[in-house]
Amino acid sequence: MNLNREQMLAEMGITPRWVLRDAPGTPQAARAAPAVVPTPPAAAVAALPRVAPPAEPAGDWATLAAEVAACRLCPLGERRRQAVLGVGDARPQWLFVGEGPGAEEDARGEPFVGQAGKLLDNMLAALGIARGDRVYIGNAVKCRPPGNRTPEAAEIAACRPYLERQIALLRPEIIVLLGKTAVHSVLHDNKSLAALRGQRFEHAGIPVVVTYHPAYLLRNLPDKAKAWEDLLFARRALQDAGRAT
Ligand code: SF4
Ligand code: URA
Repeated sequence: MNLNREQMLAEMGITPRWVLRDAPGTPQAARAAPAVVPTPPAAAVAALPRVAPPAEPAGDWATLAAEVAACRLCPLGERRRQAVLGVGDARPQWLFVGEGPGAEEDARGEPFVGQAGKLLDNMLAALGIARGDRVYIGNAVKCRPPGNRTPEAAEIAACRPYLERQIALLRPEIIVLLGKTAVHSVLHDNKSLAALRGQRFEHAGIPVVVTYHPAYLLRNLPDKAKAWEDLLFARRALQDAGRAT
């Protein structure tokens, strides 16, 4: 990572594409990684996960996926096209948690496939990682809130046990919370992101860091530089834990 501040701001603050020039492999190569494992709720349950977590009963992912696909625990279940469980490596280093599916995610059954998802993919590429390659991407709520409104506290609470089960199955080495809803779900904290950034939290013994949601960054381009700082902070937390590859 040899970008000076000026280069970094040029990369992060002006252009929409995030490129780490000295990353091993190009971002294109990283994005072309074949290891993406969508976790659609019903049909492809047998295909998940790519690598079965050896310490877990084999059925756990399938059970979780089936429960989420049929879930009506909160009102969001009534108007979704499909629940969106998550996508990625079954044993990731990184777990990114967003808010909830939008229209495109609801249609396709995969998280972060719209505009915010493109930015997230660029953020991952800048770190030299890609969805499905040491990364799992999920959301605080699995069903699309009507009109893309923010999920309510009761909805986040109803869906939280599913996220907890995902975390237990994935056992990531670091969790990055994208925006306030994810923070609310995992850290049970309603402080502003500005107050929470740059700190290392813990959840179930796993380091947790907080940054802005990609959709927010699309509306507030100058804050992309801060998000980049947060990701570097997260990578340091991963390295400090002695588990970086
Ligand atoms: Fe169930 Fe979560 Fe969907 Fe609510 S958002 S219906 S709790 S899966
Ligand atoms: N925003 C989110 O928080 N999650 C998605 O999956 C897509 C957009």
